[in-house]
Amino acid sequence: TNNRAYNFNAGPSALPLEVLEKAQKELVNFNGTGMSIMEMSHRSKDYEAVHNEAIARLKKLYAIPENYEVLFLQGGASLQFTMVPMNFLQEGKKASYILTGVWSEKALKEAKLFGEPVISASSKENQYRNIPTSNEIKFDSDDAYVHLTSNNTIYGTAWRDFPDTGDVPLIVDMSSDIFSKAVDISKFALIYAGAQKNLGPSGVTVVIIRKDLLEKENTNIPTMLKYSTHADANSLYNTPPTFGIYMLGEVLKWIENQGGVPAIERNNVEKAGLIYDVIDNSKGFYKGHATEDSRSFMNITFRIADEELEKQFLAEAKEAGFVGLNGHRSVGGCRASTYNAVPFEACKALADFMVEFQKKHQ
Ligand code: PMP
Repeated sequence: TNNRAYNFNAGPSALPLEVLEKAQKELVNFNGTGMSIMEMSHRSKDYEAVHNEAIARLKKLYAIPENYEVLFLQGGASLQFTMVPMNFLQEGKKASYILTGVWSEKALKEAKLFGEPVISASSKENQYRNIPTSNEIKFDSDDAYVHLTSNNTIYGTAWRDFPDTGDVPLIVDMSSDIFSKAVDISKFALIYAGAQKNLGPSGVTVVIIRKDLLEKENTNIPTMLKYSTHADANSLYNTPPTFGIYMLGEVLKWIENQGGVPAIERNNVEKAGLIYDVIDNSKGFYKGHATEDSRSFMNITFRIADEELEKQFLAEAKEAGFVGLNGHRSVGGCRASTYNAVPFEACKALADFMVEFQKKHQ
């Protein structure tokens, strides 16, 4: 009925159609102001209402305790790789990094500029097919923090249970699964995520930070790169990405209308389950990359044993209207990203397509 693609892009990725249509409707005249949200001052009362409502809704929907701040920053998750050690690591001090993929490696690389990060555990030797078990994870009670990536966008793995790091702050890159499932925020000292997968367009980075961490921040660092600068100014120290924050607020309203995070989580498990079932019932025609107990519900990675057939699969899928099924350029293969806004119907259509493709070609 509409001409929307079956969009399995890894990020930026699908947004809810309702949100896009509402933004379209409000685009040239927001709230009777005679201008778009993009054209008004970030100090205006219309914008401030959007900004504060987005923060409040984010806190409510994700059950964020009182002792946390929500920040809207720029620079993507990649700048967080730098800001985390710049704020919380010192020369000669250690922090533990758990390596579960390329994004954790990139975070580790930045930490080396500020202190002495140590690799706490790594699944690299297993081609990042799994998440390390809790008894493999090592850290020291003196560590400045422990860092991990909750969902590995490229390899299609995700943490089920997060390690208990006691008094050592646990810092997590949640870029590709934030708001996809319920999490106990109190386990984390800092969460960061680029918005462009589950929360809106690129350009906004969400940071959830426990307030006591702000007091441990290094002092001699640039103003814009300090968390407290943004915490003290309600993320209005300088001009924020206003349109992105407006969109994020609308996506949160959509999540609320779906029944909140628990309902979103149920849908995600069901959606990914359709595709994992096809892989598991294919008698090896489709081979999942992730080990079963480490599977992501956001990024489903798989291969077809015969390389020529894999190329043909991707070509025929494209022809049939499926977008974004190529694996990350660093690993190849196939990947279906089934973020929050990817409809059930799209996942069902892909599952059916995979079954048909196997019937034709095995
Ligand atoms: N971390 C993860 C888990 C990601 O998936 C990505 C982007 N795909 C990044 C970090 C980098 O994010 P950004 O492009 O917002 O810097």
